Amino acid sequence: MSVLDVSNVSKQYGDKTAVDSISLQVERGEIYGLLGANGAGKTTTMRMVLGLIYPDAGSIRYNGKPYTNDITRMLGYLPEERGLYPKIKVSEQLVYLAQLKGMEKKKADANLKRWLERFGVPEYYDKRVEELSKGNQQKIQFIAAVIHEPQLIILDEAFSGLDPVNVEILKGTVKELRDSGVSILFSTHRMEHVEELCRNITILHKSKTVMKGNLRDIKNRFPKERVLLSTT
Ligand code: ATP
Repeated sequence: MSVLDVSNVSKQYGDKTAVDSISLQVERGEIYGLLGANGAGKTTTMRMVLGLIYPDAGSIRYNGKPYTNDITRMLGYLPEERGLYPKIKVSEQLVYLAQLKGMEKKKADANLKRWLERFGVPEYYDKRVEELSKGNQQKIQFIAAVIHEPQLIILDEAFSGLDPVNVEILKGTVKELRDSGVSILFSTHRMEHVEELCRNITILHKSKTVMKGNLRDIKNRFPKERVLLSTT
């Protein structure tokens, strides 16, 4: 059974179709790539998976079950527009977020300390978010997505705005999470990011699935697509 099963999901805004009958399955311990240029429908798809907006049609199942409020505990989200409160301390903010997801304060605090150590920035614990650079805020935003030990992590353009060193650090972390059995839905408009991380992908274009399946098969069948996506 898939950790995430999105089946024929659609979303309309007025007369604009943001997502048109998209289906995808994410298995345990898999990083699934959602590729497409700006406006293709990636964020809308992710927001439906997160239960933040409702699909007009189709269904989404989590370990075979429909969405309920409890599902939020198994989900982690790194939004494309970062959403941390600038004036609040990293520790207060992240431990609180983890508690909202049902984790005990003590465990959340220990997890936060471990993640900050992992990224080599233990001193951020007592800093306000506004005191950190944009790139370092993004690391904190990443920790906010993983601190409560979710089964499925939704990463929307997780590497945008990061320098190459930090992209590599985050990539390594994402791979480790995968290897520990966590599932990840990973959106990007850059083929090179999915090449290293994903076995299966969906390519969206103007709300529709244009290609779907094993990345290697897709590249063999459509070598030109690589160029097309890399230039968006
Ligand atoms: P990007 O990489 O630019 O974030 P995306 O692939 O994530 O693009 P979406 O943000 O899902 O694309 O947007 C898909 C389409 O739906 C776009 O044309 C967008 O303008 C439209 N759209 C998204 N959200 C809304 C909304 N709340 N109201 C109206 N239109 C919307």
